[in-house]
Amino acid sequence: MGRPRNWLGGNWIWMLVLALGCLIVWPRGMALQAIATVSGLPTVHEVTDMALVPTPPATTESPLDFAVAAPLLAQSAPNYQPRQVIQLADPSNYGDRYSSDAYGQPVNNQFIAVMHETVGSAQSALNLFQTYHPNDNDQVSYHTLVGRDGTIYYIVPPEKRAYGAGNSIFNGPNGPETVTTNPAFPSSVNNFAYHVSLETPSDGRGNGPNHSGYTQAQYESLAWLIAQSSIPESRLTTHKAVDRSGSRQDPRTFDTSRFLTLLRRYPNRAG
Ligand SMILES: [Zn+2]
Repeated sequence: MGRPRNWLGGNWIWMLVLALGCLIVWPRGMALQAIATVSGLPTVHEVTDMALVPTPPATTESPLDFAVAAPLLAQSAPNYQPRQVIQLADPSNYGDRYSSDAYGQPVNNQFIAVMHETVGSAQSALNLFQTYHPNDNDQVSYHTLVGRDGTIYYIVPPEKRAYGAGNSIFNGPNGPETVTTNPAFPSSVNNFAYHVSLETPSDGRGNGPNHSGYTQAQYESLAWLIAQSSIPESRLTTHKAVDRSGSRQDPRTFDTSRFLTLLRRYPNRAG
């Protein structure tokens, strides 16, 4: 009997080769590419003291030929400036937007905006988003929330993927759109969605089919926010419309025509 071999014996070099081979071969094609920047979504501002923010005077001048050809487009923007507050979510409650899905297929969906309601108070929703949630099933967020007084809370940066509508699909002008970013979960619109939530009135805290609705300030701020984006009307939708779980009805009592009337006052949204 000779001297016992080290337990690794002569195999360690092959184990090393195998391990390196796995590292080189396996992650490629599986790695999701995060999108670093986005355009066409509202940017994040903080405007908490209205006295410090002079509203620019409305422009009345416009080229004559432009005004004649498209009088609606020549109108001045509404003189409205919402209060804006940054209250970022804990990073466990949001993720990256990806340029390819979980199977390596490129995805380049245009953005959609998905409207929600909080059901609870704005403060309880903000507290929830700021709580660290290690468990995937507890992670939830919107990009922005509009309080009863019209305050816009920025929660998730627009270039990030908010977890606003799991198991969802957008049936729009381009046909059904949904993206799988994690094979362990149903596909969803989150990779290309901008999620906005309206604070529910106090008489809507339960699961009833409707409530007393949203304030004028909320409609004004929502219209202002969407007017900051390039998302077309055909890609504005609701959680209820994109949901596939059958359990989401929000935003209940949402007056779409009231919102669109306010939105269309913005020159880039007219017509
Ligand atoms: Zn919702």
